[in-house]
Amino acid sequence: MAYVCSKCHTRLEGEGESPPHRCTNCGAEAGIEKEKGIPDAMRYFGFVVAGAAVAALSGGIISRIAG
Ligand SMILES: [Zn+2]
Repeated sequence: MAYVCSKCHTRLEGEGESPPHRCTNCGAEAGIEKEKGIPDAMRYFGFVVAGAAVAALSGGIISRIAG
């Protein structure tokens, strides 16, 4: 589980399910929050881009075969 310091936005690795006690960068003990949705959004965006690339590529191949 990844956490982010809301004060300095440093990415922190938690121990199992429990968040880090304090930020390793600025030492803040409050404001350690679970990392929100960014990796999923990035994964989804990558999937869309990859899908579009495959579609464009296969479309080009098909149009080349079809003449
Ligand atoms: Zn911090």
